[in-house]
Amino acid sequence: MDPAKPVDLPERPKEEAAVPDPNKKSKSQEKKEAAAARKAALKLAKQNEPKTKGEPKAAPKPKEAPAPRDPNAMFKVGFLSDVYQEKPLSETVPKIRTRFPPEPNGFLHIGHSKAIAINFGFAKHHGGECILRFDDTNPEGEEERFYNAIREIVTWLGFTPVRETCASDNFDRLYELAEDLIKRDGAYICHCTKAEIKAQRGEMEGGQRGGERFACSHRTRPIEESLAEFHAMRDGKYKAGEAALRMKQDITDPNPQMWDLFAWRIMDSEDKQHHRTGGKWKIYPTYDFAHCLCDSIEEISHSLCTTEFELSRVSYDWLCDKLEVYRPNQREYGRLNITGTVLSKRKIIQLVKEGHVRDWDDPRLYTLIALRRRGVPPGAILAFVNDLGVTKNVTNVQVTKFESIVRQYLETTVPRLMVVLEPLKVIIDDLPDDHLELLDCPFSKDPAFGTHNIPFTKTVYIERSDFRAVDSPDYFRLAPGKTVGLLKAPYPITATSFETDASGEVTCVHAKYEKPIEGEPVKKPKSFIHWVGESAEHNSPVRAEIRAFNSLFKSEDPSAHPAGFLADINPDSEEIYKDAMVETGFRDISASAPWPKEEGAVEEGGKEANKHSIRFQGMRVAYFAVDRESTDDKLVLNRIVTLKEEKGKN
Ligand code: ATP
Ligand code: MG
Repeated sequence: MDPAKPVDLPERPKEEAAVPDPNKKSKSQEKKEAAAARKAALKLAKQNEPKTKGEPKAAPKPKEAPAPRDPNAMFKVGFLSDVYQEKPLSETVPKIRTRFPPEPNGFLHIGHSKAIAINFGFAKHHGGECILRFDDTNPEGEEERFYNAIREIVTWLGFTPVRETCASDNFDRLYELAEDLIKRDGAYICHCTKAEIKAQRGEMEGGQRGGERFACSHRTRPIEESLAEFHAMRDGKYKAGEAALRMKQDITDPNPQMWDLFAWRIMDSEDKQHHRTGGKWKIYPTYDFAHCLCDSIEEISHSLCTTEFELSRVSYDWLCDKLEVYRPNQREYGRLNITGTVLSKRKIIQLVKEGHVRDWDDPRLYTLIALRRRGVPPGAILAFVNDLGVTKNVTNVQVTKFESIVRQYLETTVPRLMVVLEPLKVIIDDLPDDHLELLDCPFSKDPAFGTHNIPFTKTVYIERSDFRAVDSPDYFRLAPGKTVGLLKAPYPITATSFETDASGEVTCVHAKYEKPIEGEPVKKPKSFIHWVGESAEHNSPVRAEIRAFNSLFKSEDPSAHPAGFLADINPDSEEIYKDAMVETGFRDISASAPWPKEEGAVEEGGKEANKHSIRFQGMRVAYFAVDRESTDDKLVLNRIVTLKEEKGKN
């Protein structure tokens, strides 16, 4: 026996369970269920579509037109509907009560948004309540900033917890329950080493599992002795690893979650004091002990968690029954994984530390603070989760699928402006020097967005890529002798000549204004391009730095790279346009933010904290949002998503 060695067996089950659960459905059965749920969701969405009977036929929809979707479909069909049917509101369950139980040891990521949407959404949908519970049973790594960040993100996603609790609020009660469990002959103090415990659980030399399992020798010690030793543990007689409280479950059970799991262990480190209880406790309850009992204490009606905890349910039920306390109804859904990125805390820390990204909220990451900073609206995240639906299957989704939902969401909910990424000056020679027309521009196809004025003058800036010095017949934008329309401007322009610098780069294009001469046919351009006019009087253009993000990694599975995930980093994950220009309508939409409008209620904290809520479409370019680094002197914009999926990029 080596008493100095800490016993640090995994507390939370790993994703792959060691022993198959006899109740688990087969893969094909799950697939069928998932397909049925999707079908039902589609049918439901169809039923909710506005009826168009008698109305003229609408024009064919563009490819990515937002499909009318019931935002509550995930609660009405499939897994969550089954869960509800099983235990609907009744006299015994007068109110649905769920909880979202994050550990305050890191920032939440996109996977967590599924857990948030399920727990808060399910309760909300059925008129119940959801508790935000900080699962703070491990002082290592838990910090105040994470409590705050989690709280903030839940609010940002539009949910209000009925109350906030902490597992640590219950430490005294959990301690009493532990004593009670010992008295009921349901737990004992064990002094075995890590290796001894592994052997008891059938792990053979070399780490192979499946050997014969046998009971710990401390299991049969008298109750009074275990009680005294538990007090001694609490009072600091032992160092970490020298003693632990184990549940007296059933080592012969095929379920490894019944193999006398740890209930309390010693964590007595001077520099790792608990954020909330300080140095009060030298012993802490394990997740296996605390999680289900906190659910019980809080009288959670539906304890919804991910499928790795399916086998744990047996152990939770065992514990609640042994203590004769209220037993919550646990049901498990599949995790949400995003491919083409990394979500693990350890990996993100490495990316931040080594300077591959700016910070935890770098817009190329998939933490929720990163998505917020990039400008993704909370409603789009919820639409994404709802769209995927909930089943017991683990969902692996490509980032492109996520982006496509974000794009659909923004299409109808944010205003449109003209933005030029790489400006090229165009002088319309035949307009007078002081020519100024204020053009009335709608902010959207939807008239409800209103209109604004933009100055059209002799000098305008167009996208460098919209001009070619050498023309070709299949090119329809600006080139010498070619005519192109300027979006919203009354008449097109024709390029007459251009200037270059010493390196041969085009620096300026000269053009003529195609105002029709009486009696002559009006010139009809083959295409229209975006532009921004120069007008000192209107402080136009608005100058900006634009950050366009591409995938941070080259492959779909960065972690599978033989040289480690860092070797898979895409060197072109960010393109910066330092001299971008935005039309003056930007000032109007900044003043009238948040965009989308309906998110005003949840984007608390005032304009300064919510720069990301200034979102718009740059026509023909992409969707953008203001970055938090913007100042009064320097505007920084983040590209939220492109207008179309860029195939074959990277
Ligand atoms: P875990 O320890 O389970 O890997 P975590 O440490 O990242 O997750 P927790 O703080 O334990 O995060 O998670 C809070 C809740 O969110 C838990 O109920 C957990 O099951 C759920 N959750 C975490 N990741 C995902 C995911 N990818 N998809 C769905 N739910 C998730
Ligand atoms: Mg965790």
